[in-house]
Amino acid sequence: MDIFRYLRQTTMGIHAPIVVTDLFGRTQVRERIYLDSAATCLAIQPVGQAMIDYYTTSCANSHTSATASGRDTTEQLHHAHEDLGKLMGYDPQKDSVIFIGSGTTAATCFLSDAINCREHKPLAIVSSLEHHSNLLPWQRHFELLYIKAMDDGALDMAHLASLLRENTGKVCVVAVTAVSNVTGVITPLDRIAELTHAAGALLFVDAAQGASHIPINKTASKIDFIAGSGHKMYAPGSPGWLIATKQFFKGMGWMAGPIGGGSVDRVELDRVWLKDDPSERYEAGTPNIPGSIGLGVAARLLREIGMDKVLEHERALVEQCIRQVQAVPDAVVYGPLDASNKTSVVTFNIGSMPHGIVAAALNDMFAIQTRNGCFCAQPYSRQQIASACTTRGYCEPIQAGKTGMVRASFGIYSDASDIDALVAGLRVISEHKAHIMPLYEETSDGTWEHKAFRSSTGFDYRKLVTKFVEEAR
Ligand code: PMP
Repeated sequence: MDIFRYLRQTTMGIHAPIVVTDLFGRTQVRERIYLDSAATCLAIQPVGQAMIDYYTTSCANSHTSATASGRDTTEQLHHAHEDLGKLMGYDPQKDSVIFIGSGTTAATCFLSDAINCREHKPLAIVSSLEHHSNLLPWQRHFELLYIKAMDDGALDMAHLASLLRENTGKVCVVAVTAVSNVTGVITPLDRIAELTHAAGALLFVDAAQGASHIPINKTASKIDFIAGSGHKMYAPGSPGWLIATKQFFKGMGWMAGPIGGGSVDRVELDRVWLKDDPSERYEAGTPNIPGSIGLGVAARLLREIGMDKVLEHERALVEQCIRQVQAVPDAVVYGPLDASNKTSVVTFNIGSMPHGIVAAALNDMFAIQTRNGCFCAQPYSRQQIASACTTRGYCEPIQAGKTGMVRASFGIYSDASDIDALVAGLRVISEHKAHIMPLYEETSDGTWEHKAFRSSTGFDYRKLVTKFVEEAR
């Protein structure tokens, strides 16, 4: 069977039942349609299975060599670092992978705190399409310059070249996303690396949206630092990760990064001898073992499938989605309408309906899970909304409530039927907007809620505890 069909059949929770309502308030149960992989991916079956296997076989703390389970656990963690490194094209001789925090945010903060060129190079360059997690950590330590995004959503490379030319020798780091989480636009990393290095700066790539959607090779593309989120790579509950050179990690000494149990070979009250291996030194304390193992599984499977095939699969979905959503009455699609430099994400609005009502109605009536708002990339989202007005004449007052749009995002388990369902739902919403809008009210935090209905998955861990205690009696 085709691997993508098999993923579809086996991904955990992909068809989870949700209680929904219809236009007349009648409730029913529907299988959910998951179109929010850019926020968090569902767990593919082998990831969940590996976590269960860990709990039921070798569950133990790592870094214990005297016991079978301690040894096996430690070994699996090594495999996980290696599999992640290989997926990202690291050089095992020169580079190290560390797992850190719960996602890219933790990894980016770690790096921006630790990078030590800021005294003699006080500038950093980021692009105006960055997620706040690749903006604020740099803003805290550097004076920032911004690469402009063009109206079609792509980066203005001529502007980057001129920023670097004008500031040669003064820029410490250029930090860019691999794929925009707002438009799905893919960043030309090879060219950015060339320009960055020619100006004597270092390149950091935020691969939160890239690692599981496009082929990336750290070594071939000459990327200095790269980070990502395991939960956006089909391993929810897994850590963030950062790859940098061993030389960089060694240079950090013990003045930055997490440090404590596991970081050291020897401790005296007034002196420490740090471990050489960065993944031991900077993964202080007990690691997120099941999550790290899940990340290893996901990275290995993605490599096995081949990232070219993943890109091809998801790009076909993006093409279909842009085409079909554009045909919905009153719909406007943001970012490039040609999918050739895009992947995994399509953002849109429906006429003058607040994006919060569209997303809530998709959920409440059709069990379709999207996301709405500015996706933690406010400057870029606002620019995309403004440019839809100047370039496409789409200037509807969509700002009833907070500015934003609706995002449908795909993963390796998504298929054409998800988009058919989305478009069918959007057509009903667009056609019946006069009926639907009064069903919703805006809450004080700017979200929209159905006045008489609350959809539910039925998930409540407290029920598990009650059932368990009752069974024990
Ligand atoms: N960068 C980008 C491009 C993202 O999409 C996200 C998550 N939406 C992040 C960084 C932050 O990732 P995390 O929440 O996993 O730390």
